[in-house]
Amino acid sequence: MIMKHRCESKELLLFRSLHVRMNLMEKELTYYTNLEKGFEGERYFDERWAKHLSDDWIILNDLTFEVNNTVFQIDSTFICNQAIYLFEIKNYDGDYYIENKKWYSKITNKEIKNPIHQIDRSGSLFRRILQELGYNVSKISIEYYVIFVNSEFHLYQAPIDHQLIFPAQINRFMDKLYSKPLPQLIDANFKQAEQLLSVQLIESPYSRLPEYSYDNLKKGIMCSNCRSLIHKISNKNLVCTRCGHREGIESAILRSIKEYKLLFPKRRVTTNNIHDWCKIINSKKLIRRILSTNFKAQGIGRSTFYI
Ligand SMILES: [Zn+2]
Repeated sequence: MIMKHRCESKELLLFRSLHVRMNLMEKELTYYTNLEKGFEGERYFDERWAKHLSDDWIILNDLTFEVNNTVFQIDSTFICNQAIYLFEIKNYDGDYYIENKKWYSKITNKEIKNPIHQIDRSGSLFRRILQELGYNVSKISIEYYVIFVNSEFHLYQAPIDHQLIFPAQINRFMDKLYSKPLPQLIDANFKQAEQLLSVQLIESPYSRLPEYSYDNLKKGIMCSNCRSLIHKISNKNLVCTRCGHREGIESAILRSIKEYKLLFPKRRVTTNNIHDWCKIINSKKLIRRILSTNFKAQGIGRSTFYI
């Protein structure tokens, strides 16, 4: 059972929005593309494999911890009555090779982080977290793996390392977990999961977001399907000219308010501000109605804002 679902990080959501509303520099764009790709790979792993685990497993997604000023993240954590499994999920595609224990992309010839080191480090830091929570880690079986989910990934001179699970091995690896004879989960397992959730960082303190300001961003409502800015309204629906997706005006405005609040947590939500932000909604009256039915009004008259 899933005790922590996976959702987009705040950083990814902000990048998604900024990517449409301003010009990112090449470095930022590469970083953002990798975030999207990583998230896509993790979702794929969840849908294709993790969700088929029985109720004898607890699944915790995207745990971020800090130990001794070191922040680390674990993409998927599976807890059963006998062991804890930690997974780093990689959505690499294309060819890679190893030289002197270093990993390189064959396309760019640039070195990438050695995933074995990465998971070993996360594994030992995870042990520290359990220790700090009062567990005797020598009595807990903790296994860590790197899973390469993209079938287009190839690693030349791949080492025989049981911690690396390549695309053609994932089914067999997961079949073993599915068919593992397990005693039922007990209260202590749930308690352990809850303790881990209680000490995680809600947000990673490191972010590579570019600087942005309200005035410098393009205004308008983003299509919920293809994320381009929408220019057309027909019969109470917003119609995306790029992908044809239709969405009711109210839901689109609410989505835009959410995005506005994420980008500008200190800026007030007022009828005028949201009218300016959405850009293509002519009626301020409509925006005021949506705000007053979905938020709590503070202040009176022109100075009314919503929370
Ligand atoms: Zn669209």
